[in-house]
Amino acid sequence: MEIKKIGVVGAGTMGNGIAQVAAQIGCQVVMRDIEEKFVERGLKNIDGFLSKSVEKGKLTQEQKAEILGRIKGTTSMEDLKDCDFVIEAVIEDMDLKKKVFKELDELLRPEVIIATNTSSMSITEISVATNRPDKVCGMHFFNPVPLMKLVEIIRGYFSSDETINITTELAKRMGKITVEVKKDSPGFIVNRIMIPHFIEAIKIVEEGIASIQDVDIAVKNGLNYPMGPFELMDLTGVDIAYYVTEYFYKELNKELKWVAPNLLKSMIKAGRLGRKTGAGWYDYSKK
Ligand code: NAD
Repeated sequence: MEIKKIGVVGAGTMGNGIAQVAAQIGCQVVMRDIEEKFVERGLKNIDGFLSKSVEKGKLTQEQKAEILGRIKGTTSMEDLKDCDFVIEAVIEDMDLKKKVFKELDELLRPEVIIATNTSSMSITEISVATNRPDKVCGMHFFNPVPLMKLVEIIRGYFSSDETINITTELAKRMGKITVEVKKDSPGFIVNRIMIPHFIEAIKIVEEGIASIQDVDIAVKNGLNYPMGPFELMDLTGVDIAYYVTEYFYKELNKELKWVAPNLLKSMIKAGRLGRKTGAGWYDYSKK
């Protein structure tokens, strides 16, 4: 089956980026969120990104208009009914993801693959909320989606070879580099490596060993990483770092003993979630 129409559930940071790259390869896209204002925000982000590409000479005005013309924003799940492939990008909450997958399973044609963009959660657990667990897999994009090259393709316990192959092909059509995660294990490859380095960075600050700024300077210049851990958390969302850490603690603690530092919990309570709230580890309100 040729994939011509792609559904994206969630129009947030990741959802709107995924909708954009899907529209850029010529697919029709339906992007769904729960409230009109979230859909509007997602569409505005895409418009903003494409406008910058026009300014840089990477796209023409006509190409921008064509890409935007292929994306339909909606609050109705029904509008995804005739999609050929669906990617879920709602918040990192297992109960919500299961609910969304159950709804999609009841709505979509039986042969349609439903992929999740979860950062860390069990693909298998999500898949068994449906009657098509063989057609569920992980398709883990990175932020910002139009710029980041990697997509992790994750096998759930029941994912078929065909599901993995079709999903890999689609990611490649989107211009991405893919890696296969052969076992459904929390954090897959990248986040399994990223979260411990976040935790250690926060503990260094909490213990008064160094400042946030100096930890970022040390990691960028001593390890040659393009961003420090605090800059990266502010970009991807301090809340996401927290949810993933909590999930790892629940799933892997006996082996790995990762626990969310108190300072990270305080950041969540204070609503300092990163760039998206105007402040995280750094303040963006004056920039
Ligand atoms: P976000 O909070 O920016 O966006 C999530 C969106 O989902 C919100 O707009 C919310 O209104 C919407 N939503 C909630 N319930 C919904 C429903 N039932 N139907 C449709 N939309 C619904 O979050 P995000 O950063 O885009 O993360 C989305 C997923 O992608 C999470 O699973 C996250 O772990 C994963 N992820 C995030 C990043 C990142 O850097 N932010 C990177 C890779 C993967």
